[in-house]
Amino acid sequence: MNIVLVEGDITEQRVDAIVNAANSSLLGGGGVDGAIHRRGGPAILEECRALRASRYGRGLPAGQAVETTAGRLPARWVIHTVGPVYSPDEDRSHLLASCYRESLAVADRLGAATVAFPAISTGVYRWPMEDAARIALTTVRMATVQMSTVRQAGSAVREVRFVLFSNAAYAAFETALAAPA
Ligand code: ADP
Repeated sequence: MNIVLVEGDITEQRVDAIVNAANSSLLGGGGVDGAIHRRGGPAILEECRALRASRYGRGLPAGQAVETTAGRLPARWVIHTVGPVYSPDEDRSHLLASCYRESLAVADRLGAATVAFPAISTGVYRWPMEDAARIALTTVRMATVQMSTVRQAGSAVREVRFVLFSNAAYAAFETALAAPA
């Protein structure tokens, strides 16, 4: 399993699945969520509405993940996950870790070989970038080892690509990647 860092726009990635830092309404928002719906077109929102009407009447809880089509994006699926809002008073890192773990579990179930993640919770939800990068990389490394151990044939996921939207975000992930696992 390869971990790749790129500075860029997640909506332009040619991968099997891209992960959306959604909000629990699943009905769209700003930041990466807004960009995905804008570029992907109405098919994604239609499926999100259907998910609200069926499985997630109260919204998708923080830390969970669910897939839809990717509409017009150059990916097959969008995996929507809801990051926690950062709190200086309460440790919510288990929820941020859960976003990465659950999204990878969905990707594995779908048979996605390549998966792209944004830096979940680091925008409107204000999670400090260095800490978010450390949690993201630790969790992805652990989850991929576990998936390969559980499934003797190995995980479907061959590449996890972090798509960082700024030079500062890229630098934070580069530092976290260089840190010992
Ligand atoms: P959250 O609500 O989880 O904080 P945001 O969308 O506000 O989600 O931000 C998450 C991260 O995604 C931020 O670091 C932001 O700069 C980044 N981002 C915004 N647009 C894009 C994009 N098109 N591709 C990749 N990352 C993006």
